[in-house]
Amino acid sequence: MQVLKDIDDCRRAVLEARKTGGVVGLVPTMGALHEGHLSLVRAAESRCDFTAVTIFVNPTQFGEGEDFDAYPRRLEADLAVCRSAGVDLVFTPTAAAMYPPGVSTRVHVSGLTEGLCGADRPGHFDGVATVVAKLFNILPAQLAFFGEKDYQQLLVIRRMARDLNIPTEIVGCPIVREADGLAMSSRNARLSPAERRQAVSLSRSLFAARDRIASGSRDVGAVISEICIEILRAGRTDIQYVDIVDATTLESLEVIDRPARICLAVRIGGCRLIDNVAVDSPPAAT
Ligand code: AMP
Repeated sequence: MQVLKDIDDCRRAVLEARKTGGVVGLVPTMGALHEGHLSLVRAAESRCDFTAVTIFVNPTQFGEGEDFDAYPRRLEADLAVCRSAGVDLVFTPTAAAMYPPGVSTRVHVSGLTEGLCGADRPGHFDGVATVVAKLFNILPAQLAFFGEKDYQQLLVIRRMARDLNIPTEIVGCPIVREADGLAMSSRNARLSPAERRQAVSLSRSLFAARDRIASGSRDVGAVISEICIEILRAGRTDIQYVDIVDATTLESLEVIDRPARICLAVRIGGCRLIDNVAVDSPPAAT
């Protein structure tokens, strides 16, 4: 497994892998790897000849007062995980190499970035879109794998790739959860045992809402209230948003009459956790 910090070395290695007709798959991450990340690696390995993982805690996607400094960093353990997963290349650049003095270009995707996490975290998706565009140029892969765990991010990156004619196919992968339903996240490691117990209310409330919609409920307001009540019942939490949105445009829905996503963000202690589930529109009432 190659472990590269240098941008030119990395591009050369990817181009070399493609030279003989190989399909390269890219898995961008911020490290502290868990089963969710590994599911993307496995998806890449199943469709590609060469799998590249990037590990970079991207400073430009964290706002002031957010957890950039506290974000877990475990490079040696991550490299061991990648090695045993059969990854071919890991790119671990420094922030100085990614953002040398004088950098003055940012990628902004409008529309999709305005609601949900975009409303809570101004500039966050500019940071994400910019770093991912850079990674697509540094590692010119045919396929890139992203988790539905960050559903808004997945749609933003798809739109960016389409709008900028980036020839990398964006592949979305399902959310991997703990046995009790909590969506896996690098941030879960920072939860205290009590917070970890509260955190399960996020997925539990989403699953209950999905069931309620599947059995015919169309009232978005009532479904959202139920979710909030269940989360607040679990203890002291700070709900950032709960919304039911069109699965393609991310516009808030008043009635669930098309494929939708229920998305939420909740602060528990020092962690901001996000989760979402897909919901189909219920059958028409008879
Ligand atoms: P991160 O390291 O949190 O930036 O995530 C890197 C990639 O892994 C993103 O595409 C995430 O959506 C994806 N990911 C993170 N957690 C999960 C999960 N529980 N299930 C599936 N994909 C995930």
